[in-house]
Amino acid sequence: MDNIKQEMQKLVDELNKYSYHYYVLDDPIVADADYDKLYDKLVKMEKETGVILPDSPTQRVGDVVRSGFQKQAHLVPLYSLDKAQSFEELDDWAGKIKASYPEVIFTVEYKFDGLQLAITYEDGVLKQAVTRGNGIIGEDITAQVKTIRSVPLKINYKNKIVVNGEGIMLLSELEKYNKTTDEPLKNARNAVAGSIRNLDPKVTASRKLDFFAYGIPYVEGKEFVSQQELYQFLRDNNFLVNDFFKVTKSLDEIHGIIEDIDQKRNELDILIDGLVIKVDQMNIRQELGYTIKFPKWALAYKFPALEVTSTIKDVIWQVGRTGKVTPTAILEPVELAGATIKRATLNNYDDILRKKVGINCLAFVRRSNEVIPEILGLAQKLDNFKEIEKPIFCPSCHTKLEDRGAFIYCPNYERCPDQLKERIVHFCSRDAMNIDGIRDKTIDAFFDTLNIKEVSGLYELKKEDLLKLDKFKDKKAQNLIDSIEKSKKINFANFIYALGIANVGIKTAKDLAQRYASFEELQNAKEEDLAKIYDIGDIVAKSITDFFNLPYNQKIIERLLKVIEIQYPKINKENENILNKTFVLTGTLPSLSRQEATKLIEDNGGKVTSSVSKNTDYLLLGEDAGSKLMKAKALNIKIINEEEFLLLLNV
Ligand code: NAD
Repeated sequence: MDNIKQEMQKLVDELNKYSYHYYVLDDPIVADADYDKLYDKLVKMEKETGVILPDSPTQRVGDVVRSGFQKQAHLVPLYSLDKAQSFEELDDWAGKIKASYPEVIFTVEYKFDGLQLAITYEDGVLKQAVTRGNGIIGEDITAQVKTIRSVPLKINYKNKIVVNGEGIMLLSELEKYNKTTDEPLKNARNAVAGSIRNLDPKVTASRKLDFFAYGIPYVEGKEFVSQQELYQFLRDNNFLVNDFFKVTKSLDEIHGIIEDIDQKRNELDILIDGLVIKVDQMNIRQELGYTIKFPKWALAYKFPALEVTSTIKDVIWQVGRTGKVTPTAILEPVELAGATIKRATLNNYDDILRKKVGINCLAFVRRSNEVIPEILGLAQKLDNFKEIEKPIFCPSCHTKLEDRGAFIYCPNYERCPDQLKERIVHFCSRDAMNIDGIRDKTIDAFFDTLNIKEVSGLYELKKEDLLKLDKFKDKKAQNLIDSIEKSKKINFANFIYALGIANVGIKTAKDLAQRYASFEELQNAKEEDLAKIYDIGDIVAKSITDFFNLPYNQKIIERLLKVIEIQYPKINKENENILNKTFVLTGTLPSLSRQEATKLIEDNGGKVTSSVSKNTDYLLLGEDAGSKLMKAKALNIKIINEEEFLLLLNV
């Protein structure tokens, strides 16, 4: 037993060390997923042994509060949330409540990954704002919270009331902020905690935070019967309440909602780490009560983590199709959201310096859907930590590298083997010529054995040539020949993209294909005309003209144009409703998929962008819309549903 106790004490000490870095310093040294694993281990040991050590983190909310701020006791305690990570755990919790209260209704809300705040109003005026802290005592951050635009300074309700909710930083704001700073914030959670718990309110104001209200822990002169009523009250008093709010009696429906939001969470502009399921009826809540740490009437369903910590073992430099040489971190393999992660991107040398990472350090790694995992920042330096050196020569052709802005380039555009290979792989990719069968792994053989050094060479390939290669048998060779043949009829936008012009992704290629009636017109376009196209700035315009001016590229294009047939888009120029209009899509539409709606808009001469700005003409609104709706409302953008959209199309 003594041994077990010792082991438990070690665990408690380790968790408390992490909590101190997380809650007090706002500078975690391990990812939440790693903390949670150890915490769950401790909970299990406490259950098995019946021993609970006095300083166990299972017995308290948060950690000590930060010095420097005025300490403030809460009128009523604020709590953490118990968590579930499987439908079994959720059903177990809900099932027990249902057994005693068959009439129970559940609500489902986002679990915002931010900082809980409690704001007190008296006579309808904001009097004080306090962090959750350890649930009993928090830090007075009134001046900081007053700078948050979505916190009302005055409300209609005149009696004393405490409203709680989450201070958050929209991911788009975090991205904007991180682009302009030498000290990037590691993630939206630490960003918001660090911004609010900053002694200078001007710093808070500059970080553009938001506040989503979700509870009323204390109120005088009023009683609520349900969370639904409470939300309406918060709205009526000008609080920002998230539109995502589901009410249901059915556990099956909750499972469906969880699956749906888990899939979509990467598209949200708000960092959420799960959903909160709450009992709607206040009378049932009162009877269920609280543990020392959680309300028994609410549960956080936590999504699988998208962020972990792993060791950077090495950094390699890779040459891309435009000659840009970028670093990739080689990681100690780590499980993340159902995949084993072995590599992660670092953008450039400055990024390495800003994130302070090196070889032999523990780093935060994040993975979003279909995106290559990214290194967010340093967690801890390990023994034998080594700074990463900036390369001087190209790792592929050994030409001296050049600094161009924030990036380094291999200038050997026409001969560097890796650049040439990458250009062929890009040319064959799905959004480009969609030639199936040439992947990173086969490209060396194409390059070395078949002597294909640039893309037009693909159209001279014969089946006999392919059969000379190791892995090509009759069927595979024929499939590739067929795929190359098929690619000869190619949409204008896909062809532009396939050329591999620097800074021209598929979206820009689509914009260009809409703007220019023929390839020749595009080839001869002047830099200043290109720069006038919406979304194409000076840099992209220069990349395009530089590309077409290079004799090497001109020769390849000449060869390509002899074999391929460009299909130009049919633009219904009569449809003034759509032509040159900018749409943003949000939520799920009743009948059209996102791709279908996008295609309809683009085929009619309109464009689709991902975020709402003052240049947006329409927000096409589906169910479960997120922050885009709020932003569109704030900017007075016209909001239409699918039916209205189809009417626009049909004139
Ligand atoms: P929590 O963050 O898991 O959940 C409780 C909190 O959720 C509430 O206090 C509230 O602030 C918030 N919340 C968000 N949306 C809500 C909604 N709609 N309704 C009600 N509440 C909502 O719990 P916690 O106690 O704040 O923190 C524990 C977690 O913090 C751990 O599970 C771990 O992931 C993380 N942590 C990490 C480290 C680290 O070193 N990385 C250290 C300590 C804690």
